[in-house]
Amino acid sequence: MPLPQTTTPPQQFGSDNYAGLCPQALEAISRAAKGSTPAYGDDAWTRLAAKAVADVFETPDAAVFFVLTGTAANALALATLCPPYCSIIASEVAHAETSERGAPEFFTGGAKLITPPTPDGKLTPEAIKLAARRASSPRASTPAVVTITQPTENGLVYSVDEIRAIANACHDHGLRLHMDGARFANAVATLGCTPAAMTWQSGVDALSFGGTKNGMAMGEAVVFFKRSMAQGFAERARQSGQTASKMRFLSAPWLAMIHSGAWLDNARHANASARQFAQAVEDIPSIKLAWPVQSNAVFLLMPEPVMNELRARGWRFYTFFGGICRFMFAWDARPEAIAALAADLRSCVRGQGAL
Ligand SMILES: *Cc1c(COP(=O)(O)O)cnc(C)c1O
Repeated sequence: MPLPQTTTPPQQFGSDNYAGLCPQALEAISRAAKGSTPAYGDDAWTRLAAKAVADVFETPDAAVFFVLTGTAANALALATLCPPYCSIIASEVAHAETSERGAPEFFTGGAKLITPPTPDGKLTPEAIKLAARRASSPRASTPAVVTITQPTENGLVYSVDEIRAIANACHDHGLRLHMDGARFANAVATLGCTPAAMTWQSGVDALSFGGTKNGMAMGEAVVFFKRSMAQGFAERARQSGQTASKMRFLSAPWLAMIHSGAWLDNARHANASARQFAQAVEDIPSIKLAWPVQSNAVFLLMPEPVMNELRARGWRFYTFFGGICRFMFAWDARPEAIAALAADLRSCVRGQGAL
């Protein structure tokens, strides 16, 4: 029987999830494949991986869990931090708001999402204060948690100062701060700061730390920087079917990615690939960068006929935010494929005449 082709030339940049499994993660899976090991996370791989994640943050006391998807990481972390009669403040473009089919509301069992408008995708202390003030009546769903995405859904990175200011606003209002770090490694690569500086040292209470988009097959880590805040997470993970019985196949790749440094190398490569693409297209007439490139995403404004022609030539990409084209670069992005995409875009624009 012929097997499906997984690599169709040219390489596609529709999502960082299109990428395969990086060699370090693959090797870790084959190493963990041998022998028998206790189930449901009661194994040496999982213990060592949790310790390795905690060490990345220089917090030996952090509580670390592994779940299968980023949606589960967010929803279960938020449910652990937010009672069902309270609310969660998130950007209107947050993945938790736009792309999780109500999972945070479902897993909290009734919490509401409050989503202030965020023109550049970033929440601000002012927006948080305003939302907290508006919902302060005892009859309203009082906010309990703020979630920020780092890097944001539109590829921007909060600076450490911005995170600290947000955390201060949260803590002034008794709110906890969660970070959706589906692409956390990309933000670390951009800022060049320590993971600790970007999180608990700036006041972040809990983090969804993405592994899938970083180069693993699947698996995200959830980190609570204060162990006491993790109360109930393990039970919720079990209840929602997120406690993998062969947990070692989630955790062993984490261990390998951290020990080899691949988690940061992959992110650096992905970010550099995005910059390569942006530099190759920014002088094309009628093409504009919607936002500066600060992580592994490039968002382009382009005339609709160009978009259609690019798709007709076989390139896959999503449009977000009312028609902005998104290109994502992962650990495996190849310079020749990026150059081919850029060249095709240039030729599409030329073909459309004086746009
Ligand atoms: C991809 C992504 C997630 C997680 O998505 P899953 O498909 O559930 O793994 C969460 N937040 C952001 C910002 C993402 O880009």
